[in-house]
Amino acid sequence: MSEHIGGTDQASTAKADYERLRTGHLSAVHAALEDHTARLDWTREQIEHYRDQRLRALLTYAQQRSPFHAARTRGLDLSTATTADLARLPVMTKQDAQEQWDAIVTVPGLDRDQAERTLAEQTWFSYTPGGQQIFSSGGSTGVRGVYVWDWDLFVSLACLAWRTQAREERRAGGQRPALLAVLEAGEPPHASTPLFDVPSTAGMDTVVIPAGEPFDDVLEAVAAARPTHLVGYATVIGRLARAASTGALDIKPVRVSTNSEPLFDEDRKAIAEAWNVPVHNLWGSTEIGVQAVGCGHGEGLHVCEDEVVLERVDEHGTPVAPDEPAARTLATGLANHTFPFIRYDLGDEVTTLPGNCPCGSRFARLADIAGRRDDDFHYPACTVPASVFRHVLGTDPHIAEYQVHQTPAGAEILAVGSPDATALTDSVEAALRRHGLPDPRVSIRTVDHLARHEATGKLRRFIALH
Ligand SMILES: [Zn+2]
Repeated sequence: MSEHIGGTDQASTAKADYERLRTGHLSAVHAALEDHTARLDWTREQIEHYRDQRLRALLTYAQQRSPFHAARTRGLDLSTATTADLARLPVMTKQDAQEQWDAIVTVPGLDRDQAERTLAEQTWFSYTPGGQQIFSSGGSTGVRGVYVWDWDLFVSLACLAWRTQAREERRAGGQRPALLAVLEAGEPPHASTPLFDVPSTAGMDTVVIPAGEPFDDVLEAVAAARPTHLVGYATVIGRLARAASTGALDIKPVRVSTNSEPLFDEDRKAIAEAWNVPVHNLWGSTEIGVQAVGCGHGEGLHVCEDEVVLERVDEHGTPVAPDEPAARTLATGLANHTFPFIRYDLGDEVTTLPGNCPCGSRFARLADIAGRRDDDFHYPACTVPASVFRHVLGTDPHIAEYQVHQTPAGAEILAVGSPDATALTDSVEAALRRHGLPDPRVSIRTVDHLARHEATGKLRRFIALH
């Protein structure tokens, strides 16, 4: 008993320590938000000049401090490099990033083992002695990744995630008091809660409602909170909007921000029908952070070109013209000096939108990220997006790799590694139930390896029933 109380005390001390430092971190975000908001009005020349200088800074730092990047950037004149020169560097894959972690990270004393220890030992979100945060995610490919965000990177990413809304709130004269309901993972190791639990105006409070709880509990918590603003997983907010339309939820948000999952048409329509408010859809990743954000005026999303370089490339990594189809999207995160991602393969496909946005911003635009709908599992009762499985399976440190086969009543999962099959089965079944699948049946089988596609070497991670 005393041991249990001791453990709880330790956990609450850890939480209090985290909250104290985070208060300071949020002050840094609010200070930087002024600069970031002003950038939204930049001309093309300002955007490009700033971006090229930042790129040179990143490449130089990475070359000096990261053995991995030193080898890859050799021969490039960094004093005159521009985004066009990126095409001369090799593509960085998720496998590179996870297998060569210690050669990529630029902080003395921080390595993969240390990062794994932090993830295993922390009882709540935490900061390392160097002010970094360690996150893990299943990401778009579903392979588990471990990531480090330093103090400055978090400040930049939080600004990218919130500056558009902050500007709109200011233009609208603000709304006091305001309450933001944060419908994200709600717990470590996912980065979503720290990133989105951020007030975008002075009079705003926030409440975190873990989106992974049973939907009826989420609904009840949102109803009780009576938020004026919502941010969260696109499918969860879509479901709340449908509940509002049927009278099961009585709230009147004035602004909605969606992330972490593709925003499907049916969810966008449900949000419009229920509340008719601006929607800021965000496309991001734990690796890069925030890649593009919707302004709530024009179509699509604005690329955060001041902090991220995106390249649409063909199968060989060669950039293609805006009107040509691309095989993949590479991202270079300009604010990440601790663990540089340079020409990183995001795995998503994006389409450039021509012309200027009605909002007046000169930041380039992408069409809404559709996601890979062929990865969705359609059951008679509901559709389950692949992210539901990735969320559970992709963050389990005991799973090296997995493949999910849809079955009529649930899924059969093949896992490489040594997961706790009982606990994992329960977690996946609970997640499916929350998404509306009644009485889900899940089985987990441990295997030595998974068969990859013979020609491409790619693993089909989700195999739907047809
Ligand atoms: Zn716009």
